[in-house]
Amino acid sequence: MNIYADNAATTRMSPAAIEAMTVCMKEQYGNPSSLYSLGQRARETLELAREDAARVIGASPKEITFTSGGSEADNQALRSAAAAGKKAGKTHIVSTAFEHHAVLHTLDALGREGFSVTLLDVHADGLVRPEELRAAIREDTCLVSVMYANNEIGTVQPIRELGAICREKGVPFHTDAVQAVGHLPIDVDADNIDLLSASAHKFHGPKGVGFLYARRGQRLTSLIEGGAQERGKRAGTENVPGIVGMAAALREAAGGMAEASARLVPLRDRLIAGLGEIPHSALNGDAEKRLPGNVNFCFEGIEGESLLLLLDDRGICASSGSACTSGALDPSHVLLAIGRKHDVAHGSLRLTLGEDATEEEIDYIVRNVKEVVEHLRGFSPVWRDLMNGKGQFIL
Ligand SMILES: *Cc1c(COP(=O)(O)O)cnc(C)c1O
Repeated sequence: MNIYADNAATTRMSPAAIEAMTVCMKEQYGNPSSLYSLGQRARETLELAREDAARVIGASPKEITFTSGGSEADNQALRSAAAAGKKAGKTHIVSTAFEHHAVLHTLDALGREGFSVTLLDVHADGLVRPEELRAAIREDTCLVSVMYANNEIGTVQPIRELGAICREKGVPFHTDAVQAVGHLPIDVDADNIDLLSASAHKFHGPKGVGFLYARRGQRLTSLIEGGAQERGKRAGTENVPGIVGMAAALREAAGGMAEASARLVPLRDRLIAGLGEIPHSALNGDAEKRLPGNVNFCFEGIEGESLLLLLDDRGICASSGSACTSGALDPSHVLLAIGRKHDVAHGSLRLTLGEDATEEEIDYIVRNVKEVVEHLRGFSPVWRDLMNGKGQFIL
């Protein structure tokens, strides 16, 4: 059996998106900035795609800027709010310890440029507390950035409440919604969101394209100097086929969202229950306030990397930590942020289901993870010590 269970890393492209892109590349190859009709047809498809992107989050098309993906959107959101803040003499930013590196590393850079950053605690359940955000906001706070749903442990934050606090305090609110767009219903007005990042390849669109939503009145500064594309907010000839593919994937995802979620939640919970039978294991993040397809476990006494390789031999694609950190020896900053000890954080496994997952696949995964964990523990010195009473089990 071959099972792709790493949909938080990237998704398989939807056939509708591939078809839309193919047509676009063959027939709408004009430059959207050109005045002849071939160019203007490309311009029209671009603007239709902008309407699709706006609709799915309850925004207006003028508030959407196309980018090269989630990382660029995060960078631009943070840099824009920081620049506006600095002009007004405000140089304090509030975010969280378990953001994606696109946010955390931008905050590091801003820190070196003189901004001060407060990172909110993420509790053991993988959630931030609104009252802690309220307490962290200062007179000189120019931005709050909290991710909608975490890419590793899948926890979904109380975005509406967090946004309401920012609105009340008059501080712009950015959310990295890369894991949420196309999977959870989002309404930027009801949720009090001022800036939002999205990426096509996380909802069955192509890689290398995404968008940044900026509420009317939120000024965006350009990260790339050049032509006046995207109303001067993002230079460079637009990735028209990519944007068209993203829009097709987004229409499909938005249409099937409720159904996909209703199908996935019981499968996710079956997987959680199955893996929970493994001794000395624990689910990471709240069991309910999590993405419909996300399961993330720690198993004591094993290395996540070995687990992944053996699961790969059995046809299962999974992940340990995020793709950006696997390969590095540091344990996941997300698992450390929710209070997992180093040793245990090393033995983590993330399984993120696609909308087409089946019960049979879940049972295959459970059976194989059980076997592989037992096998690995069989020759783990750490496990042997624990079993012999040397040292204490953490889980
Ligand atoms: C994937 C991801 C990103 C980065 O998006 P890219 O399009 O790959 O640059 C940012 N934030 C989160 C939460 C993600 O899951």
